[in-house]
Parts: sequence; C-alpha cells; structure tokens
Amino acid sequence: MSRTYFMSIGGKNVKGAGTFDVVNPANGLVIGQAPDASKEQLDEAVKSAREAFPGWAATSLDKRRVILGKIADVIEANIDELKRLLTTEQGKPYAEAEWEVGGSALWFRGTAALDLPETVNEDTEERYSVTRRVPIGVVGAIAPWNFPIILACWKVAPALLAGNTVILKPSPFTPLSTLRMGELLQEVLPPGVLNVVTGGDNLGPWMSAHPDIDKISFTGSTATGRKVMESASANLKRLTLELGGNDPAIVLPDVDVEKVVPELFWAAFRNSGQICVAAKRMYIHEDIYEAVAKGMAGYAKRVSMGDGSQQGVELGPVQNALQFDRVKDLMQSAKDADLQFLVGGDIDEDAAGYFVPVTIVDNPPDDSRVVTEEAFGPVLPLLRFSDLDEVIRRANDSDYGLGASIWTGNPEKAAEMSALLQCGTVWINEIQHVTPFAAFAGHKQSGIGVENGHDGLLEYTNAQTMTIKR
Ligand code: NAD
Repeated sequence: MSRTYFMSIGGKNVKGAGTFDVVNPANGLVIGQAPDASKEQLDEAVKSAREAFPGWAATSLDKRRVILGKIADVIEANIDELKRLLTTEQGKPYAEAEWEVGGSALWFRGTAALDLPETVNEDTEERYSVTRRVPIGVVGAIAPWNFPIILACWKVAPALLAGNTVILKPSPFTPLSTLRMGELLQEVLPPGVLNVVTGGDNLGPWMSAHPDIDKISFTGSTATGRKVMESASANLKRLTLELGGNDPAIVLPDVDVEKVVPELFWAAFRNSGQICVAAKRMYIHEDIYEAVAKGMAGYAKRVSMGDGSQQGVELGPVQNALQFDRVKDLMQSAKDADLQFLVGGDIDEDAAGYFVPVTIVDNPPDDSRVVTEEAFGPVLPLLRFSDLDEVIRRANDSDYGLGASIWTGNPEKAAEMSALLQCGTVWINEIQHVTPFAAFAGHKQSGIGVENGHDGLLEYTNAQTMTIKR
C-alpha cells in the first residue's frame, strides 16, 4: 500500500475531491494515487495565495532570500526520498533524478543571490524619479513531466523571491515528487505562500482562465501554450511560456570525431530524448558524416536502457503512453518513407514499460517528419551538409527557436555563426548548460518571455515608477 499524497493548500495537507492513478513507466504498474482537485479546491488554493500575498510581498527581499535558502536545505535533506519518487514516476535513472533534485536546491540558492535594484531615472532640482519592481500577485506555475521538479523550481524560486505567492501544478503524469516537495516545504514557508494542486485535464485550463490568478508561468508543448495564451487573455494575465523545441546541432569538419561522438550522443539522448533543448536534428559536415554516424551507432549499442531504479541503467523509458504512441507514430512515418535506420527502429511490443530503443535515422530528407517534428523521445535524424550558409539556413528553417549547438575546433568562428541562429540559447562545444544566472528564452514558437537570470526574475514583477516634484 503506497503512502497518501496530499496537496498543499493554505499551509495544510489536503486530500483531493477524488484521486487518480500514477503509473511507473518502466513497468506499467500503478505506484500511487494523486489527489484530483475539484474547481472549489483550486478556488480555495487561489484564495489562500491571495490572502498570503500582502504579508509575503511586505517581507523584505533579504528575508525572502533567507527563506529560499531554507527551501534549498529542505530539498537537500530529502534528496534521497525525492529522487526515488522521481525515478519511479518519471522513469529517469537514479543518477539523473539525483542531479535534478540536487540542481533544484542549487536553483533556489542561486536565484536567492539575484537582485531587484531600483533605477533612478531623474534626480534633479525639479524632480526625483525612480522605477522599482513590485510583485505581480498570485502566480500559477504549470510544469511538464520531463523534469517535473527542476522546471517547477525554475518558476517557484523567482516568483517567491520577487514577492509573489504561488499555485504550482505538476503534470498528472508526474505529480508525486512535486506533491511531496510541497508538503516538505510548508515547514519553512508561511501558510498559503506556496500551494501545490494536482488534478486531471481540467485543472490547467481552470488555472489559466482563473480570474484571481495574475500570471501564468507555463512549461509544456507549443500546442498547449497557445491554449494557455488564449484563456489567459480574459483578465490579461502576465505570461511566461517555455514551449517546444526542435534544436539543431551543427557538427563542423574540424571536430575530434572520437571525442565528440559520446558528447553528441548524450546531447540527443539524455533523459531518453525528453529534453526541450535536446539536440533533435544533427547536421554533420559531409567530410566527417560517415565517421560520426558510425561512431554514434556503435556508441548506442553500448548504452543500457531499462528501469531507472536498477544499477547501471543509463536510459529509461519514455514517460507515458501518450508520448510512447507519438514516438512510435514518428518511427512508423520514417519506415513508411523507406528511410534508413543506423540503429534502432523496432519496438519490443511485449515489454511491460514504454521502452523505445535509441533510433538514429540516416540522412532523411529535410521535409520528412523525423526532421520537422519534435520527437521528444530517443529518435534522432543525422543530416549531411556541405557549407555553412546552407546549414544555417536549414537550421533556421523551423517554427521553433529554443536552442542550438555548434561543435567545432574553432570556437571563435562558431561564436560568429551563433549570431545567425534564430533561437534563445546557442551552446558551443557543450549543450544543456543552464544556470539560475543566464536568461533562457524561446524565440519564435518556442515561447514568450524569459526564465532564469535577471531577465527571468523581472518576469515576476511589474514596473512601478514613482516621481516626486521638488
Ligand atoms: P503539455 O503541454 O502536454 O503539458 C504541460 C502542462 O500543461 C501539464 O502540467 C499539463 O497538465 C498542463 N496542461 C495541459 N493542457 C492544459 C491547458 N489547456 N491549459 C493549461 N495547462 C494545461 O506538455 P508535456 O507533454 O507535459 O511536455 C512536453 C513538452 O514540453 C515538449 O514539447 C517540450 O519541448 C516542452 N518543454 C519545454 C521546455 C522549455 O523550457 N521550453 C521544457 C520542458 C519541456
């Protein structure tokens, strides 16, 4: 019998109006029940956040920094329990789960070091004018299932630091670790400052349409992001949308092939490809294409996939049945088009979990679905290119614009190229390096606004200018 998981509303543990099952994607077994919030329970959470807001907003920035530090301490003290729960519901290997939970603690500490300085606009004999940043109010934070804990913390940490109160909603596919984190954090937060609610498909739309939520910070798919934007218009909610990506990786002919192959492999396949900024289209210069392709296929055969709770497992399953079906459909489209697989391509339908083997497609046409669509699973197209102008044009030929990476022996040249790429982050000779201090933004249909860094913190504030006539 699994433990009971509670929502956190007004500082109290609250049961849902109903419950729903949560499944371990490595074996399809039910691992627990999550609370299914009713509309009234969401209203109650919003009311408690609203009531807690004036007190939290009036708490000094320094005091809020201290509390963010205590949050980090609580997360670290419970890393083992949270990591196990995360692996059981999300599927990622323990080491990755530990990285995620530990990284979340670091995120609170890093964010606590950010500042919200006032800008003096005028200081003359006639007038004093200053612009300061004030909190927005009640923030609804909506998180996806690929990195449930850390992506929630990307929202909660700056929202709280800036003086807002929060309603956090994890994905129904991965609610348990977030619920548990919410329970644990109540001991260091005043009641109502951080509320955690879980529920089915209605809960997100109820939040984005809620008249008493002032901002939605959403991470998820572009399709859902559009719906959030539409329903948020009713009360002109502030919005931060971190959406999908189809990130190009560009591999130049001057790389050290042997060194770069493992790096490229993990750039694409870490978390079984379920990373918004995974390398999802890999453009390899024709001079080294064969060597890199052979190296990647060989490396793939050495990597172990399985239940993330088992020692030695490096890749877990796809997280849920819906995503499993999407990835299978994409693989089928490649088969239907007679594309060549360097490795993978066939799913063991008898396996209990949602396992998709590492699948690498050999130089498909640019307009094939495996190139134009975000797989969000372990399926990667390798594409040949011959000159830089051509590869930049092909890399930019997407409605998405989240990230990109360039792999080269000449980083200065790559830095020049980076300015030509239409996306929010360009990594050179690394990928997925994110910190609480650097802006992370989606261009084009990969999002609106910024997370992290000073720019990300400002998204949880309104500007307020005050003038004094002298
Ligand atoms: P999703 O859009 O299906 O769900 C995201 C969250 O939104 C979940 O909590 C879900 O319950 C909720 N939701 C669903 N419908 C809603 C609605 N109408 N209104 C409000 N909320 C609603 O996304 P997902 O499948 O959980 O995540 C995968 C997607 O997220 C991928 O496209 C990936 O690229 C993207 N992603 C982006 C980033 C980023 O930072 N840009 C990070 C991680 C994932």
